Amino acid sequence: MSKRCSVAIVGSGFAGSILARVLAIQGHRVVLIERGTHPRFAIGESTTPLANLALERLSRRYGMADCYDLAAHGRWLERYPDVMRGLKRGFTFYRHHRGEPFADRGLDSERLLVAASPSDAIADSHWLRADVDHHFVREAIAAGVDYQDRVELTDADIGARGVRLSGRRNGIDARYQVDFVIDASGPGGFLAHQLAIPSGLARTRTRSALVFSHFRDVRLMTDVLPGLPPGPYPDDWAAMHHVIDGGWMYSLRFDNGVVSAGFALAPRGLAAVTRSRAPDARRLWDTLLERYPTIGAAFETATPVMPFGFRSRIQHRLTRAAGPRWVLMPHAYAFVDPLFSTGIAWSFRAIERLGLCFEAGLPKANDLKRYDQMLGAEADQIDALVAGAYEAMADFDAFAAQALIYFAAVSFAEVRQRLVESSPWNGFLGVGDPVLGPLPRESLRRLRRPGFERWVAEAIAPRNIAGFADPAAHNLYPVDLDVLVDRHALLGLSREEIIAALPALRGVAPALPALPAPTDEARVVLP
Ligand SMILES: Cc1cc2nc3c(=O)[nH]c(=O)nc-3n(C[C@H](O)[C@H](O)[C@H](O)COP(=O)(O)OP(=O)(O)OC[C@H]3O[C@@H](n4cnc5c(N)ncnc54)[C@H](O)[C@@H]3O)c2cc1C
Repeated sequence: MSKRCSVAIVGSGFAGSILARVLAIQGHRVVLIERGTHPRFAIGESTTPLANLALERLSRRYGMADCYDLAAHGRWLERYPDVMRGLKRGFTFYRHHRGEPFADRGLDSERLLVAASPSDAIADSHWLRADVDHHFVREAIAAGVDYQDRVELTDADIGARGVRLSGRRNGIDARYQVDFVIDASGPGGFLAHQLAIPSGLARTRTRSALVFSHFRDVRLMTDVLPGLPPGPYPDDWAAMHHVIDGGWMYSLRFDNGVVSAGFALAPRGLAAVTRSRAPDARRLWDTLLERYPTIGAAFETATPVMPFGFRSRIQHRLTRAAGPRWVLMPHAYAFVDPLFSTGIAWSFRAIERLGLCFEAGLPKANDLKRYDQMLGAEADQIDALVAGAYEAMADFDAFAAQALIYFAAVSFAEVRQRLVESSPWNGFLGVGDPVLGPLPRESLRRLRRPGFERWVAEAIAPRNIAGFADPAAHNLYPVDLDVLVDRHALLGLSREEIIAALPALRGVAPALPALPAPTDEARVVLP
């Protein structure tokens, strides 16, 4: 079997499928090559406002109506009830101490809640990736993408005149001759192996292992801890983070009652539980639940719906993200940690960037250079922020302050993108911003010093449009539009301008004018 196309995308996670579809809509002939089949299990489920905003923009720019519907929990339920998801109103954190039940000290509890949306209707969602990725593959096929599954690629030959990929499909030789190849194979690292791209893992500070599964019958924290003061949203309808000694647990609840949960453990956190290099995942899980009784109580009645998985290190990083005729999607280039749910939003940034590059034909050398530099800087930024959070886990006040650097950066970016500008080339997580850019690295230096929380409050002040670091809030932060109006000047807007924009922020009206779908004339026609 031999195929000639303009672009090959290797890997059909949502990133590969959505980008394939965007390029097909632009008029490129795209082959999407997957080694497995759909539906299939995948991890990485919790979206954020920046991810969903990008999904809405992609929807408008390329006329992909389903992307708009899937960008808000209410629209999703109405239009795609069969594609499973979970309601995510925000980010919930509890600090647990070994051998002790969670200390309910009312408003002074070690608890942080940051709302990401003002209502369920326009809330984010956790993606049941088996369903969502399958949906996006089907949409890519409907848009004209040539989807090839069960392909075992063995070679990539990238030359001055084109790219030849070869392998086997259903026992038959398969060859793909293309002008450009995009690696969306995630940690599968197809091009990393083929091009022998050197590892950049040595510059990644974060180090964590993972034990995980999906469960039924996990109790709600609001049932386990019924006396806690109400937060800005029900604690469980969120990305739930249980911070423990040397690590943390994520717990993401889907609307069908299934919960995706996993412990990410720094080396000291793992060493505290096991000395084995290949521990029994189930035993490791049970030991952790025994040590942290309130988490144990939440999982008392739970049953896993799939085998437990264990990975001794989840980080990966390469030294290059692009070159002549090839580019890596973020998850093929680097991964740090699930903390703060950065992966999906970062992937969308890349989809938007590459979408723009391909609108004018194939990406130019300058585009690829810029893309490579941005991904490198952004991977460093995510790493510094997350490494700092791991450092701070022992002291919840410091951890909460470190988390506020993340929340200040993303809430500022979200409102600016909704109201002021939305170039996908703006850096992710404050990269390139003179105020936010240096903070994660600076905080790594200051974390253990006295006065860290005060320093964070002052450092984020020029971008703090959400009222973070206010002791009167007791770490419970709703979406507060009054604060936003008061702080209009931080966004370079007048009070009147921001008041006029409020309906867009409440999800009542789209913030961006609808962009026309690319016309036939604008399409790129390649051989
Ligand atoms: C434990 C964990 C938790 C996470 N939680 C979150 C979260 O809550 N929120 C968030 O935003 N992000 C999260 N992430 C990150 C998220 O998983 C990634 O950002 C996301 O999966 C990227 O999607 P993708 O389509 O690029 O790659 P993937 O989802 O990795 O898909 C890659 C695809 O490529 C295919 N493939 C692999 N090798 C080959 C090959 N050689 N040939 C052909 N096909 C191949 C695979 O079968 C797969 O279908 C998490 C990651 C981890 C590890």
